[in-house]
Formats: sequence, structure tokens, C-alpha cells
Amino acid sequence: MTGIRDYQAVAGEQLIEEIYELARQLKGCRVQHINSTFTGGGVAEILKRLVPMMQEAGLEVRWDVIRGDEEFFRVTKTFHNAFHGVPVQTTPAMLDTYRRISRENYDLVDPRADFVILHDQQPLGLAEIRPGHPGRWLWYCHIDPVDVDREVWDFLSPWARRCDAAIYHIQAYARNLGHRQYFMPPAIDPLADKNREVSSSEIAAVMERLGIPADLPLVVQISRFDRLKDPVGVVQAFRLVRKEVPCRLVLAGGGATDDPEGIQVLQEVRQEAAHDPDIFILELPPTSDLEINILQRVAAVVVQKSVREGFGLTVTEAMWKSRPVVASPVGGITVQIIHGQTGLAAATTGEMARAVVRILRDPSLAEKLGQNAREHVKKNFILPIYLKRWLELLTAEQS
Ligand code: UDP
Repeated sequence: MTGIRDYQAVAGEQLIEEIYELARQLKGCRVQHINSTFTGGGVAEILKRLVPMMQEAGLEVRWDVIRGDEEFFRVTKTFHNAFHGVPVQTTPAMLDTYRRISRENYDLVDPRADFVILHDQQPLGLAEIRPGHPGRWLWYCHIDPVDVDREVWDFLSPWARRCDAAIYHIQAYARNLGHRQYFMPPAIDPLADKNREVSSSEIAAVMERLGIPADLPLVVQISRFDRLKDPVGVVQAFRLVRKEVPCRLVLAGGGATDDPEGIQVLQEVRQEAAHDPDIFILELPPTSDLEINILQRVAAVVVQKSVREGFGLTVTEAMWKSRPVVASPVGGITVQIIHGQTGLAAATTGEMARAVVRILRDPSLAEKLGQNAREHVKKNFILPIYLKRWLELLTAEQS
């Protein structure tokens, strides 16, 4: 397992020393992270690495997943969409389901935790028991709450208020809940299989296994099949690009256990692609980190056509690999893609197609965007920096 010291080569010695210094003051501190899935999606991705790093730093950390049934995850997916401004219809039965499953999970909370961290809205109902618990409770909102549906917010926010503080990815997401707020964008692990350097033989083997030829430039989007990632729009943008420059499209993603809509969206994408031999739609199992790494690395352009995006780790991952990225200027993508410097922003299908064509025709632009992208991620969005920010936050909350 990779240790904190292993990050010295990418993060520098000083940062590592700062981490150990902060960690000394938090030694033995009991931290519990609670979210809704161990696999799929950005939160699981972050916790998978953050939890062992915090443990190595000397904290007593556990990670638990809320137990829910299909109905519960349908409800929380509706809430998720409601956060992103999608018009939704909530019913009393849905709210009852949420309350019932929350109650059934009360015993999940570690009664001795110094910090209970609730990730996103799925476990937020656990905050009902906050008044009788000795620890500090933090609600970490990983999604963009700016256009949250009023009814859903009125239902959920009383639990958020019971927490001692809230964490948002970026300042634009701040909500007035009458308690402390922190801003902490997530990060990627540069040494994980998803992001580590790979050899040319690894690349060749994976691309052969995936059956994708190397004779044309690839436009790639990696994402769960979710309408908010607009995979159908990506196919439409690709068709415009291909009229100008020969290329292929790869849309790759798997499901998440807390997202019941994926299968339907996948069908919609397949329909749009209509057996086009230049469009590769790959359903990835959860063990596909190396495949994702390689697809991002071989891409001539990585696109992220999200309608909404809490942060957009797939963008960070591609930028780390020095890839030119074209992405919608939404949510957390806006702090990653600085138009013309660390990537290109494209708000519509037409703009995305034009930006991709521009990059495909201009290798020096591709090179410049890619290099700046990597530097930007290295300074702001890699795991050791994230760990340090966490330790600072916990220290501040403790005092
Ligand atoms: N991811 C994955 N397999 C997939 C699709 C996505 O491992 O099939 C990963 C992806 O590489 C990224 C994370 O899941 O690390 C997705 O995070 P992001 O913030 O981009 O979007 P979210 O899914 O949280 O909306």
C-alpha cells in the first residue's frame, strides 16, 4: 500500500512534513466517514484513498456505508437530481422512505467518534441523533446545491443545520445554514492505478483488449451513464467533429450502486450512437482503474460535457495526464478549466465540437493546454494537498 512518504516525489518534502506536524496534534482522534456506496462515483473514489492516508497519519478512521434498499436509492437519486436543479416530484411516501432508512441506520454511527462526517445527502438523516452524540458532525456536500429544489432543500436542510459545520467544494456553493462553512475541493491520487504512469506495453495490451484501434485520434469521455453528464450530447458533438477531422469516440463508464438510472441512460446513448463503428461505448466494471487511466492517456482530447458537476474528478484525472480537456463551464469544472490556459470551456454542443476540432488541428495548443493542466492539478488537486487540508480542518474544528 502506498504511504504518505511515497508522495514526496510529486508533492515535495515540505508538504509531507507539514502533514506529519498536523497529524501529531490529531493522533488517536476518532473519525467516521459515512456515505452511500463503496464503489462508483467521486465520493467513493476520494474515500478509498483518503481513509488509509488518515489512518497512516495516526487517526482512528473508519468508513461506513448507509444500508438502503432500492426504493431508498431511488429517493436519494431523486434528491440528487433535485440538487442539480432537475424538476422533481417528491411524495410523502418518498420522504417516509428516507426517514425510515435513516432511522434503520442510526446504529451505524460510532458513539465514540470525535468526528462524524456525512458525505452528501444520502446519510444526512443520521444527523437526527446529533444532539445526543458527543462528537462534532460535519456535512460534506459534494454536489452543487445552488439550484436545489426548494421542497427537497426544506426537507433535508434541518438535518444539515444539526451538523456543526458544512464543507463545500467551492465558495460558490455556500448555503446559509447558520454554522461554519469550509471550502475544500477534492483531489486525485497521482500514485493510484487510475493515475500512475503506465508503460507502452500496458497501453497496447489494454487497447487491444478493449478492441479500440490506434489509427485515428480518440475523443474520450469517462463518466457514469447519467443524463447530467450528457453522454447523448457527446455523441452529437462528436458527429460534428468528425465532419471536420477523422476521429473516433469512446464513451466509457460503469454504474454506481447508488444510481439506479444508469441502465436506462446507457440505452439512450446506444440508440443515439446507432451502431456507428467509430463510436465505442464501454461498460466498465468497478475494477477498471487501469483501463480508465489508459483511455485518458491515449485520448487526443478528453471531453466532459456535464450539465452539472459537483467537482468533476474525471476532468482532474485527465488534466493530471497532461491531456487537453474540453468541458462545460459548470460547477467545480470552473475552478479547474481556465479557458485557454488549462483547457477549453464549451457551453454548448456546437462550442464543444468547435473546441475539439481546434485542438485536433493544433498540436502545439494541445501540448500547451496539457502542460498547464498538469501544473494546475499538481498545485491544487492532488491527494497529499487534500489530506493536509483535512487535517487543518479537523484541527480548526477541535479547538
Ligand atoms: N469512474 C470510475 N468508473 C466509471 C466511471 C467513473 O471509476 O465507470 C470514476 C472516475 O474515474 C472518477 C469518479 O469515478 O474518479 C467520478 O467522479 P466525478 O467527480 O467525475 O463524477 P461523479 O460520478 O462523482 O458524478
